[in-house]
Amino acid sequence: MIPYQWRALNDQVPGADASYCMHNFKAAAAQNASKATQGKRFVPPTYTFRGFNALPEDPAHPDPDKFYGFVFQDTDFSKWIEAVGYSLAHHPDAELEATADDAIDIVCAAQLDNGYLDTYYILNGMDRHFTNLKDHHELYCLGHLIEGAVAYYQGTGKSKLLKAACRFADYVACRFGTEEGKLDGYPGHEIAEMALVKLAEVTGEKKYFDLAVYFVRQRGQEPLYFEREDRARVAAEGWGYQPNANDPKPYAYYQAHEPVINQHEAVGHAVRAVYFYAGVADVARLTDDPDLLSAVRKLWRNIVDKKLYITGGIGATRHGEAFSYDYDLPNDLAYSETCAAIALAFFARRMLEIEPKSEYGDVMETALYNTVLSGMALDGKSFFYVNPLEVRPETAHHRDENFSHVKTVRQKWFGCACCPPNIARLVESVQEYAYTLADDGNTLFTHLYMSGSVGCELAGVPVTLSMEAGLPWSGAGRAALHFSSESCDKPEQGRIAGDAATATLAFRLPAWAGGEEAAAAVKVDGEAANRITREIHEGYLYLTGEWRDGDAVVFDFPMPVHMVATNPRVCENVGKVAFVRGPITFAAEGHDNGDLLQNLVVDTTAVGADCSGVKAVPFDFVAGAKGVDERGTGEVEAVTRPMVKLEVPALRVAVERETADDAPADAPRTPLYSAYKPAAVTSVTATLIPYFAWANRGESEMRVWLNAR
Ligand SMILES: [Zn+2]
Repeated sequence: MIPYQWRALNDQVPGADASYCMHNFKAAAAQNASKATQGKRFVPPTYTFRGFNALPEDPAHPDPDKFYGFVFQDTDFSKWIEAVGYSLAHHPDAELEATADDAIDIVCAAQLDNGYLDTYYILNGMDRHFTNLKDHHELYCLGHLIEGAVAYYQGTGKSKLLKAACRFADYVACRFGTEEGKLDGYPGHEIAEMALVKLAEVTGEKKYFDLAVYFVRQRGQEPLYFEREDRARVAAEGWGYQPNANDPKPYAYYQAHEPVINQHEAVGHAVRAVYFYAGVADVARLTDDPDLLSAVRKLWRNIVDKKLYITGGIGATRHGEAFSYDYDLPNDLAYSETCAAIALAFFARRMLEIEPKSEYGDVMETALYNTVLSGMALDGKSFFYVNPLEVRPETAHHRDENFSHVKTVRQKWFGCACCPPNIARLVESVQEYAYTLADDGNTLFTHLYMSGSVGCELAGVPVTLSMEAGLPWSGAGRAALHFSSESCDKPEQGRIAGDAATATLAFRLPAWAGGEEAAAAVKVDGEAANRITREIHEGYLYLTGEWRDGDAVVFDFPMPVHMVATNPRVCENVGKVAFVRGPITFAAEGHDNGDLLQNLVVDTTAVGADCSGVKAVPFDFVAGAKGVDERGTGEVEAVTRPMVKLEVPALRVAVERETADDAPADAPRTPLYSAYKPAAVTSVTATLIPYFAWANRGESEMRVWLNAR
């Protein structure tokens, strides 16, 4: 995925939308170079607004000096370098590292002497920088640059990009604040908050944390900064501020309508919102501010209780890629952006750091295994931005403008390429979501059960926890603790095997396995059990005592099929059911069940309250699809993946043959309406595949929520 994305950033993927990301950095670097040679003769560009997404008049010949793409195009690089950093930490690759170093040289050459680094304004005119924080994403670019720089530094030990990110952050810190002469603004698109917390942790510089705290607390303070900014822009440029009498809170879209401590409903652009809540959670944890802690808990509850899809998706409406009102969760019109599910994982992980409660882990797991994975084809080469829970290709793809945001097959790349590199950086750092270490260093939490190993210092002893897990298809596995000098950053301090650590290993008890009742499925292996005490708290099993090298914990979580109903306030799902097993949500596709999926009706009696009528069948899912257009859109390579499918007792409603439009006038017609009578049905077995695997076999109908009776 990483090499593919590098080609995309350099506009080298045939058939894909151009990114212009590296083009812009090169243009800015060239401008810097000519400034250096021309000295005082250099005339900087004066700002002219060229649109939120500027494209070359002749796509074959972009002007080498001009900025193209979205105002936040620089973040494509930042997300890519972040994924590279995580990847190199685990899989050294000299060629990739050399490519990345070259890219970093170009990016750093684009940075201005004062530290500013956003090619949009560098190329379009610095005279107007920081005049449209609301929409022009400069501080969003800062946030992503920091995240990328930190990951690359941690993965390689190389600090060139980190220093560039610090210089940009320093410049922002000296320009922003409530002091006289500073801008009392904050990011239009949040992410800088959580990024600055990371930067402070990595550099040990408190000033970056202070800037994060400032952004969190200042947001939404009266008089509203964005409104003042909008009015100033009207005065300067004659456009941009249009008060809307129908929208009393126009800045709610940016979560900037009131201070966060007064907010209790998740509103506005979903990715912005949840990136912000994640940043607030960081600041709340580190400041222990009760008002901020209360705010993030309330916002979490609002999302989970009223605005969350069963797939872990959030942001129900396409209008502004935003949260809709409570319980408005349309399936076919869903937006459910891949990035928003990623943001939810960020938020959940930070809530887990505040207070380890299994619900945070449950939601994080659901988001990761369903909507995030759905965002990418099984061959890793095409992507969904929008993740609906119901698709009829004719409506979504061909006929109805209301569905223009819904794609029926994954796309190779997007001009607005937020999601693909976001998946890359998440997938490459997924261990950070699976495990956390308590602040005192004595408790290692396992939130997600995925095979692999994690090294850390537990109660002062360098250890590796090696996990073998059958998730998401089986709940069985084994976590072995090894005392290892190799696992530690400081090998000279490593103790030799045979030492003991008095510490706690804490394991999430997943809701799908029965929650706290599932504690019985977790056992300390062998005689070690005599040294370890067991305690359950907030959905985690705490195993505490003297751990020795080689000790292991075995688990075998039950993974029953669950038939799920929705709160009846969600009008779309009344009379419908969905199926989940373990962390996986299932979906019916036309490939397996025929089209007109609205006539596939789950026979709930045959299913049974305990779902004993449903068979969970391991099988090899064979992906593979030809493109639906001349650009190869929707192409998927023929990869095979072991999965589990569900065979569900169902009924098929008989559908009479459709009358052809050109049928003779006296031909028998199928009426649109007729007197009610119980529908004729035949018993069938519905085949449900994991939701994340849909649209890997070409275009087809798909439904998560099935009619039931
Ligand atoms: Zn996205």
